[in-house]
Amino acid sequence: MRFKTPRQQSDFNELPVHNVKLKRVLEILDQFCSMEFGKDICLTDVYRTKAEFDALYAATPADKRPKTSPHCYWRAADIRSTDFTDAQIKKMLTFLNCFTYTSGQGKPVAIYHVINGNTFHTHIQVD
Ligand SMILES: [Zn+2]
Repeated sequence: MRFKTPRQQSDFNELPVHNVKLKRVLEILDQFCSMEFGKDICLTDVYRTKAEFDALYAATPADKRPKTSPHCYWRAADIRSTDFTDAQIKKMLTFLNCFTYTSGQGKPVAIYHVINGNTFHTHIQVD
């Protein structure tokens, strides 16, 4: 597993305290991508403060902006998607969505999306 900056590495190392299931899913995903594609994953975001959340959605119209994010509660992580082909991302999503986002009220564990002003990435939410 690779990390965008030391911040993501330290957030990942803190996961056993906050959300051990998210850490395990990321480890299993890293093993899956290594075995299936010969690639490792790059973690680009884990925990987000409210200020970081607000900054990230600055380019999103207010009426389309979510009120909060699972990142603010240690329930989500983002993976760089430019490392993978479209077919690999599709396979990755199928694999990840075998897991259940318990408090997500039917929302999937993994989605491939973009936030205005940013780049497409794989968002993973687990609790
Ligand atoms: Zn995310």
